[in-house]
Amino acid sequence: MSQPNARTFLTGLRCLRCGGTYVPGELEYVCPCRPNTGSDLGHLDAEYDYEAIGSTRKDALWAVEDGAIRSIERWWPLLPVQAESLPPLPVGDTPLLRADRLADAVGIEELYVKDDGRNPSASLKDRASAIALAKARETDREVVATASTGNAAAALAALGASAGQATVIFVPRTAPKAKVAQLLVYGSRVLAVYGTYDDAFDLCVEACEAFGWYCRNTGYNPYMTEGKKTVSFEIAAQLTEARSGKRSEDRGGNIPPFEAPDAVFVSVGDGSIIGGVYKGFRELHRLGWTEGVPRIYGVQSAGSAAIHNAWRDGLDVPLPVESTTAADSIGVNAPRDAVKALRAVRESDGAFVLVEDKAILQAILPLARLGGVFGEPAGAAALAGLFEARRQGLVQADETVVAINTGSGLKDVPAATGVAGEPIVIPPTLEAVAETLKI
Ligand SMILES: *Cc1c(COP(=O)(O)O)cnc(C)c1O
Ligand SMILES: [Zn+2]
Repeated sequence: MSQPNARTFLTGLRCLRCGGTYVPGELEYVCPCRPNTGSDLGHLDAEYDYEAIGSTRKDALWAVEDGAIRSIERWWPLLPVQAESLPPLPVGDTPLLRADRLADAVGIEELYVKDDGRNPSASLKDRASAIALAKARETDREVVATASTGNAAAALAALGASAGQATVIFVPRTAPKAKVAQLLVYGSRVLAVYGTYDDAFDLCVEACEAFGWYCRNTGYNPYMTEGKKTVSFEIAAQLTEARSGKRSEDRGGNIPPFEAPDAVFVSVGDGSIIGGVYKGFRELHRLGWTEGVPRIYGVQSAGSAAIHNAWRDGLDVPLPVESTTAADSIGVNAPRDAVKALRAVRESDGAFVLVEDKAILQAILPLARLGGVFGEPAGAAALAGLFEARRQGLVQADETVVAINTGSGLKDVPAATGVAGEPIVIPPTLEAVAETLKI
């Protein structure tokens, strides 16, 4: 059980299911009102002393002077851990890239790509794993464990290695070889479970209980949302600088220090990232640091649409599906963080957008060729969803939109070659070059 954390601004955890509240350290993972695993869990939401943060930490959080910390550590007053507990490998501070040619293709004026493939283990999951490692450090855990088939595990393995923290990872026996290699390279102990992802997930929870390990499982550990929300803090801070050329503390008068975009597009599997994206913007607004909260759009593959279906049908808990999508990072049968995902979209007046796998894979090309960003299929899905939302009239031409690329294209090379094709094989002669390129 974690110790109360005197040196953070965390005030407690609130259950999104029964409304129960807990002081920091009283509970680690989920509310006892529904402690079993599966989609219908007592998910906890971290709450902070926003008045104290606004009055005592404002200058540090707005600061952008040379030499200021730009990684997620910058935002520590809005995190559930102390800055010193974070692993040494810097996470976050990924670029927000203005993409004018891509904006033209979509038919909007202002489009940015937040490239979270440029994190240490090449996905947005590093933001969450950093928090898990900090929590484990503050509560003196020998091992941090997670169940995952891909990027969450890679993030835990990489950051765990940097912190000298032992990690155990449960993967389903069928996990892709390339992703398992990343875990082994970083020195995690990898246990391949005969069974599904759900079996691996439940076994990980059991092992953590039995052996006192710290559990990073997505949609179970409430603090993973807290790491993921930092992407929104960065988007707001970077957008402010990109649009006005002014730094937040120079904006003066009564203007809020940060600007929020009109809409944000992000792909959705378990629903944890989108929940974090919304929470980050909501907290900035609550602090009075932005004028509004962007509409949040969740993009799902038609081959893995559990949360979209729940949203469409007005359900609070999604019904499981049989996932078939090729975008493996968003392929989920029974999503673990649907409650936070549904809240994100409903409260922000966004929507869920469905796209076919073919459109997801095709979107890899304009993202790279017009936006300069090589995304894995689940990353390109955000752009595919933006194209679709534009077709449906959900986004207007004069709006400012951010699409988050959640993972690097190097994570899934076969998907990329599938749409980009093969090189042309030629003999080593100038004539062959001229003939082939018709020069
Ligand atoms: C995990 C992941 C997602 C989906 O995030 P959820 O929290 O499961 O909704 C999207 N893209 C990439 C690259 C991911 O690794
Ligand atoms: Zn509860």
